[in-house]
Parts: sequence; structure tokens; C-alpha cells
Amino acid sequence: MILSSSSYVAEAPSQSADEKEAYRTESQGKTFTESQAFSQSEIVRLLQGDDDDWLFAAAARVNRQAFNRQVYLRGIVEFSNFCRNNCHYCGLRAANRKVERYRLTSEQILSAVALIAESGMGTVVLQSGDDFTYKADIIARLIRQIKSRYQLAVTLSLGDRHHDELALWREAGADRYLLKMETFDRELFAASRSGTASRPDANSRTGADYDERLARLKRIQQLGYQTGSGVITDLPGMTDEILARDLLTLTWMQLDMLACGPFVAHQQTPLHQSPNGDVLKSHRVSAILRLMNPDANIPATSSLDAIQPGARLQGLTRGCNVVMPSFTPQQVYASYNIYPGKNSASDTLQARLSALKQQISHLGLVASNARGDALRNPYVPRY
Ligand code: SF4
Repeated sequence: MILSSSSYVAEAPSQSADEKEAYRTESQGKTFTESQAFSQSEIVRLLQGDDDDWLFAAAARVNRQAFNRQVYLRGIVEFSNFCRNNCHYCGLRAANRKVERYRLTSEQILSAVALIAESGMGTVVLQSGDDFTYKADIIARLIRQIKSRYQLAVTLSLGDRHHDELALWREAGADRYLLKMETFDRELFAASRSGTASRPDANSRTGADYDERLARLKRIQQLGYQTGSGVITDLPGMTDEILARDLLTLTWMQLDMLACGPFVAHQQTPLHQSPNGDVLKSHRVSAILRLMNPDANIPATSSLDAIQPGARLQGLTRGCNVVMPSFTPQQVYASYNIYPGKNSASDTLQARLSALKQQISHLGLVASNARGDALRNPYVPRY
């Protein structure tokens, strides 16, 4: 499939009768079949709860077929909460003077990574705001050190960085990159991310340019990263029709990771008076994405728990197959406050990990330390 960045946002492709039939099981006689490209109107109906029982059961079945009850654990290190952008929904926005800012040194980051390796997990996720203080070579050195010391897959989530930097990090050994759009609707994107960089300079990026960000995603795929993106469900101004188009677009892009969680209102943002997202709808989103993207990695996001404790785990029975426990050092853990409730647990890391594994086991699932690479054409450029 050949896509230009401008043609990403489009109608879903049609699917052959054979493909639809391949996953048809107990849905015989129902309107929907499993693992298919739904139309926009079908997705809207599902988002509105047209057939939750069928949807969640089908997503769980497809999950089992693809992952055999495994839930991949990925250790995440949120190493800086500085950000030059001003996304209206995010507590880390540059204009928020109340957040206590921190930056971890390379040594502190490597210490956290060592804990992830010791715990046996197969993936480290390095995440930060758009913090250009960490120059490309600093990140590249970190990646090389991690790769030389451990058998870990490295996922980066460092925002909208220059093509040369992304290429350097890929060359250094980074395996995956996550760059969320939050919505593919041009107008809603602009309304949600219209803040400008706090210290604009010749090299700055605001992350607020729709076309640039979309083009960046395409380049990340071209570089051979396992590529992820996602949306915020119930972002203020998002209709079900917009959300349905977003899910179609995510599917069309043939992404390896699909990260979608509900909007959570943060008091120190312009959207503080907007209602939180609907957890049930967010679960429907994961389930629909699972059916349309049987092999993709879909994390159960911590924003689910921020609204309704336990909802993240429930997501694992409704299409999600990944959980990312935070290994951010305890002294700064609570300051990665993208939304209220994020990193709010006061338990020690060991206690949180042990509880998480037990809870996964109680669901009849298996907490897995496997790398959990994307099942479809990993490392193969698609364009
Ligand atoms: S969403 Fe990301 S880019 Fe936007 S302000 Fe928050 S950390 Fe920065």
C-alpha cells in the first residue's frame, strides 16, 4: 500500500469475503465479524455500545489467538518532565509553572534500566516531554550502552524529533518509536495543541504542526522502527464520528503499537473544566482496534486507572496485551504528572510489580517478560 502523509487520513480499505470469513466464529448471524475493517458507521455503532458483549468477547478471543494469554510487561523510565510544548490537555505543558520539573542524568537513567533488566523484562521504554536538552548524541550513547549491557528491546517516546536524530537512534539500536497524534482530525488537533514552544529557536519544533507530525510518523516507519501512535479518547471536542475516523486511520497506517487512553482533566491546563473521558468507551476503542489490528501491541494505559481504579487491568480482557509499569525513580515518580492520578501509587516499585503480576494472573493471563516484538513485518520499511 502506498500512502503519502496526506493520504493517511482516509476511508478504510474494503476487505475480501475470505478475510472476513477467516475469523468468523460465534458471530454467525450477527451484524459484525471478527478481525475486519469496519466502516466508519459500524465503528460509531460499536463506540456507542451497540453490542458490548459481542465486542469484548470477540476482542478477547482474537487476543488469545495472537498472544496466547501473554501480557507483555515493559518497564518505562520517564526521565524528564520538561517539555517545550503547550498541549492544552497535558499537565507537563511548558506554561504550567506549578509542576516540579526534573531531569535524570544518564547515570540515573541507566540505574533504572538496570532494575528493568534485573526484573527480567524484555523491553525498556524511554520517555520524556519534548526536551531538547537531551541532544541526539546523549540519547544515542544511552541506547548503545543499554544494548551492549542487556538483551533489551528499546522503545523511545521522546516526541517530535528531527529526522537525523531519529535515524541516529535507530542506527544506535533503538527498536521502536512511539509518537502519538492524539487525534487525526486536523481541526481538533490544532485546537488541542495550538500552544507554541516556550523557547522557540532555529531548531525548535512546537509539535503543533499537523502535517509535520504526520510526516514524522511516516519517516519513523521508513527508518524501520516498530512504530506506534494513538489518540486520546473523548478529547474535548471529539465526536464519535471523529474517533471512528481516527481508529480507521490508525489501522490504515499499519502501526505496530496502538496506544489509546481516555482524556483526564488536569487542573493546571486550559481544559481543566472538561469532563473526563468515558472508561467504557475507551475499552470499546481497544477492542475495536484489536479486531481491526489482530497482531498489533495495544497497551492498557494508566489513564484508565486514573479515572476508574482497576480499569487498566480490565482493559487486558478487552483487547489490550501490554502493561508498562513505571521504573522512574521514586523521588521524582509523582512529578511525571501528565494527568492527575498518573504515577500516584505510594507503594515501592517491588510492591507495585508484585501486585501487578498477581492481578494479571487472577485474570487467567500470564505476565510475560518476552520482548514482545510486533508480529507483523517487524523492521521492514513499508513504503
Ligand atoms: S502531551 Fe507531550 S508534547 Fe504535549 S505538552 Fe505534554 S509532554 Fe509535551
